[in-house]
Amino acid sequence: MSQRLVIIGGNPAGMSGAAEARRGDPDLDIVVLERTQHVSYASCGMPYWLGGVVEPRERLLAIDLDTFREKRNIDVRLGAEATEIDTDGRAVVLSDGQRVTYDRLLIATGARPVRPPIPGIETSGVFVLRDMDSAITLKEQLPRVSGGRALMVGSGPIGMEMCENLCRNGIEVHLLEVADQLLPTLSPNVAAPVAEALVGGCTSTRLGSTLESIEPGDDGGILATIDGRTDRYDMVLLGTGVKPNSELAAAAGCALGPRNAIAIDATGRTSVEHIWAAGDCATAHHRVTGEAVWIPLATTANTQGRVAGRSITGRPGRFPGVLGSWVSSAFGVGIGATGLTVEAALDAGFDAEAIERTGRNRSGYMPGSESTIVRLVWDRSSRRLLGAETSGGDDVATRLHALAVAISARMTVDELAEVDFGYAPPVAALRDPIELAAAAVTGDAP
Ligand SMILES: Cc1cc2nc3c(=O)[nH]c(=O)nc-3n(C[C@H](O)[C@H](O)[C@H](O)COP(=O)(O)OP(=O)(O)OC[C@H]3O[C@@H](n4cnc5c(N)ncnc54)[C@H](O)[C@@H]3O)c2cc1C
Repeated sequence: MSQRLVIIGGNPAGMSGAAEARRGDPDLDIVVLERTQHVSYASCGMPYWLGGVVEPRERLLAIDLDTFREKRNIDVRLGAEATEIDTDGRAVVLSDGQRVTYDRLLIATGARPVRPPIPGIETSGVFVLRDMDSAITLKEQLPRVSGGRALMVGSGPIGMEMCENLCRNGIEVHLLEVADQLLPTLSPNVAAPVAEALVGGCTSTRLGSTLESIEPGDDGGILATIDGRTDRYDMVLLGTGVKPNSELAAAAGCALGPRNAIAIDATGRTSVEHIWAAGDCATAHHRVTGEAVWIPLATTANTQGRVAGRSITGRPGRFPGVLGSWVSSAFGVGIGATGLTVEAALDAGFDAEAIERTGRNRSGYMPGSESTIVRLVWDRSSRRLLGAETSGGDDVATRLHALAVAISARMTVDELAEVDFGYAPPVAALRDPIELAAAAVTGDAP
């Protein structure tokens, strides 16, 4: 009889695990349990579907259901919510009481939004964007809110993407941030161009302020009280972070790691025999510190799913770890970060220091030339590059990728300053902002 792999969760981690396991074992019985009606879609594209940039919604599907079911012979079960893992009986129990037995189990349950614990947070009209169901709910609301006012709570990268796309729907957005700057994980100077891009647009910003309570208004609106002042909105959208869906795994005895994510090794194995985990529900190790971290990103979910699929089918493969590299774009300003901040580097025991330099992404006299800032974090004793942040034009990802390569290759700032970058006026500056920042450390730039 063939062995059975059961996978809980049908987005990037789960479905890449299923596809990789199929590649490794054509005879394996593979069952995917997904509690919603959607699998294998681009969550990262949802803000742009909401903004009307991407249409129709089906374009967000990475691989359609028929391909999984018919071409890859993967038994995808929709509306199948796992409520318990019976490790003695090696079975997953579903909400309808059904038991699905497994020989090997991959937990890929992702993460869910954190709702601030304030009165009225469950009021209708308060939304989150996490999965396709929540995106569909939100999309249905947009015609009602168009021409009105939304409160966006939280100004992380996804919050900023949502601001931009609410604006595209003709909605005036009031952006609330508890920290005293937008994009609080970025350094102030790197985040500043985004704040400048917002001036005069459809978004007003309130920094250093706290949402205290929410209550329904008489006219279908929502009354939100911020720092003692109550205002009316047509919609509230929360972008206040996520936490891992690790409760099922914890109840099955799996050890947890940072932020209560499921602790896994580099092959995706949990502490419980026959059980693997991948994606937003699981930890990863940081490439610079070697420590376990929880940094939920699509890139990590996809790769960890594939690594688990290989391990489950007895093939070699190790997850190389994360730098936490991310890029985004807000109101025309590209932003991104990779590796450690100065604070994280100091915490990890490095003698860390940072330097920032601003340059142009292409020659200043060329159309489309934009100011671009690069911040480097390095260790004073080894001179190793530990982290970087950048913001600027629409080519920010290429710069961020180069910096991630440099950190992965354990380059020093001196080596980075000596890289032979290319130059041509329409696409690059004579001295790229990366080179300027590195050369400022070595004393070869102002
Ligand atoms: C709006 C938005 C924009 C984003 N943009 C980016 C970006 O630009 N770049 C980037 O790197 N990352 C981005 N992310 C993060 C990225 O989407 C996640 O890191 C990625 O989806 C994680 O994949 P996953 O498979 O681990 O988890 P998920 O995508 O959360 O999938 C988990 C699946 O498990 C299912 N599930 C959970 N519990 C159960 C259960 N008990 N039984 C059955 N099924 C269950 C869920 O329904 C879900 O389908 C974004 C996220 C959002 C919400």
